[in-house]
Amino acid sequence: MNYNYHTHTARCGHASDAERDYIETAIAAGIKHMGFSDHMPFLFPNGRESESDYRIPVMLAEDYFKTLHALREEYKDKIRLHIGFEMEYYPNCFQEMLAYAKGLGAEYLILGQHFLDEREDVNVRPSKLTESEETLKTYTDCVVAAIESGVFTYVAHPDLCRFVGADSIYYRETARLLDAARQTKTPLEINFLGIRDGRHYPMEKFWKLAGEFRVPVTFGFDAHDAEAAGDLTSLPRAMELVEKYNLNYIGEPTLKKI
Ligand SMILES: [Zn+2]
Ligand SMILES: [Zn+2]
Repeated sequence: MNYNYHTHTARCGHASDAERDYIETAIAAGIKHMGFSDHMPFLFPNGRESESDYRIPVMLAEDYFKTLHALREEYKDKIRLHIGFEMEYYPNCFQEMLAYAKGLGAEYLILGQHFLDEREDVNVRPSKLTESEETLKTYTDCVVAAIESGVFTYVAHPDLCRFVGADSIYYRETARLLDAARQTKTPLEINFLGIRDGRHYPMEKFWKLAGEFRVPVTFGFDAHDAEAAGDLTSLPRAMELVEKYNLNYIGEPTLKKI
């Protein structure tokens, strides 16, 4: 594995270390293609400030690109750097968010559906244990619409929704997501942060189905600190899933320029 397009920076408020250290770690681990995809800054129309502990503050957006452009130039003989964002799909704000990302100069986007709508309320985090069919459906609707928009390079942790209700509901909804990914050839990420932190994802029941649907699968470190920017220790577990469920692992994803 010599690529990783899922990297954060300290600007989002819940990551640490200097970009330079992420890059140095990645180079030492043999990474040749690296993408920064920090949580996208945005001022929501409902007045929610992005100045939270979750997103890059809008006032630091320019600095994100300035810093990374300089490092891209400095390290160009050792590693190819790309600069994008991880972004949610909210039906009410999608076009505005996309236009804003383009305007800032983002090269690519990955989808990370951490919330169900622009209120970004803690009560509707899909990663929380839930038996709600409604939550799973809304999550799936967002991810499917995002996939069908054709702008996302891949879907990060598609198995984020921690649904523990009836299997029949889980399979029905997950099949919709997988079908969209298969039709559009959109890769789904096995997320290494989930592996190294022992989170509920990668979720076995999701990847079992993903194998049956033959969706394209890729890997991402989801680095929130410099050490994780070369996280090859999670690779054996990811490969184990690929083999166990006969996943269609494509390796490095093709960047979709926005
Ligand atoms: Zn994060
Ligand atoms: Zn991430």
